[in-house]
Amino acid sequence: MKSESFNPFAMAQAQFDRAADFLNLDSASRELLRNPMREYQFSIPVRMDDGSVKVFRGFRVQHNDSRGPGKGGIRFHPQETIDTVRALSMWMTWKCAVVDIPLGGSKGGVICDPHNLTMREQELICRGWVRQLSRDIGPLIDVPAPDVMTSSQHMLWMLDEYETIHHMKLPGLITGKPVGMGGSLGRTEATGFGVIYTVREALKNLNLRAESTSASVQGFGNVAQYAIRLYNQLGGKVICVSCWDQADQKSYSFKKKDGVDLDALLAITDRFGGIDKTKAKDLGYDVLSGDVWIDQDVDILMPCALENQITADNVGRIKGSVRLIAEGANGPTTPEADKEISSKGIFIIPDFLANAGGVTCSYFEQVQSNMNYYWERDEVLGKLDVRMTSAFIAVNELAAKRKLYMRDAAYFIAVNRVAQACKERGWV
Ligand code: NAD
Repeated sequence: MKSESFNPFAMAQAQFDRAADFLNLDSASRELLRNPMREYQFSIPVRMDDGSVKVFRGFRVQHNDSRGPGKGGIRFHPQETIDTVRALSMWMTWKCAVVDIPLGGSKGGVICDPHNLTMREQELICRGWVRQLSRDIGPLIDVPAPDVMTSSQHMLWMLDEYETIHHMKLPGLITGKPVGMGGSLGRTEATGFGVIYTVREALKNLNLRAESTSASVQGFGNVAQYAIRLYNQLGGKVICVSCWDQADQKSYSFKKKDGVDLDALLAITDRFGGIDKTKAKDLGYDVLSGDVWIDQDVDILMPCALENQITADNVGRIKGSVRLIAEGANGPTTPEADKEISSKGIFIIPDFLANAGGVTCSYFEQVQSNMNYYWERDEVLGKLDVRMTSAFIAVNELAAKRKLYMRDAAYFIAVNRVAQACKERGWV
């Protein structure tokens, strides 16, 4: 159930204000960091397959680039808003800082629903988005990437448009490219695997063995699928997954007490992460409508769908068995729900730490693209594990030393690094 007043940007600012108070930031630093440095909003006219012209609204927000070029995905979503993009760009700044990679925070989007667009129409949206921003993005300025409902194909169209405009090959412009076309091995699995690298460390901290734990996952897209894969490899059992059903315009949860079979579910899942309900029933799943994933008797909850999913309305349904919440999605927990999670003593791995594997691997992709020399998959994933693990340990140590909630500790480390960079540059 969504609360009427939810505004992701107000939520991101409230989280920042808390960190600013803790760090005792001066007023200029606060003003600089609680708003994006630059925002672009524009129209993308597209001639549709039926001959009509439709105008789509596009966005790019560059929150802060004091630590390096901006970095952040482009989301295609019918409910995209400038405030969502602002919030996500701010979270990108903290995400790059918490894993200590030399990049800033950006985010982009287009209000559209790819379910109702042909590939040709989507290509034209991608090319139009780049034409509007060709002077304001670049390998050393701001580097886009895929996000919800955008893929490596969308990235390649965008790169092609950019290289055509600039008359040179610049694969470092964009990440999430197809492997063989400047993409990095390991990128597809990086976010989901990164979630589980931090889950693995958190379980050690909680004195739990993965083999004796179970989990419930919201979402069944890129992040969820790879998180489930690695969690299964560690011995964990996922008993519930969920997805959005486009035809019914509501979400469904798919339950199996003995553990979901990832490969069998993947075989009946579309490219948007939607699971076929009829086929799932045939495979013996309980198919239940709504956010049932949240009230399962499990040790771990992994919200891996969208923002604003654990709210004041449903947080009370989290079972006493839950010891750990790993936020694969960006902003899945509202501040009110967060208070209750904190007061229950549930260990949380906050979004911008848990899902930083994606941007960390994007950073590796950019490094490889700029060098035009590509690493093996194991090398990429090994480097990713090292980064994620050390970021988790730093946050966890601060949380333990100062008796802080994990989200606060992650914020304090990240905001402090960015505020320091702004100061050292002489901006504030
Ligand atoms: P995706 O489009 O591949 O999958 C999204 C999944 O969520 C789909 O299975 C969809 O059916 C499901 N979903 C949507 N609304 C739902 C609802 N109300 N209830 C249940 N399920 C619902 O997206 P993704 O790439 O997996 O991204 C998921 C989240 O992770 C987003 O918040 C995204 O910003 C964040 N994230 C993604 C990456 C990445 O590399 N893909 C990196 C960092 C953060």
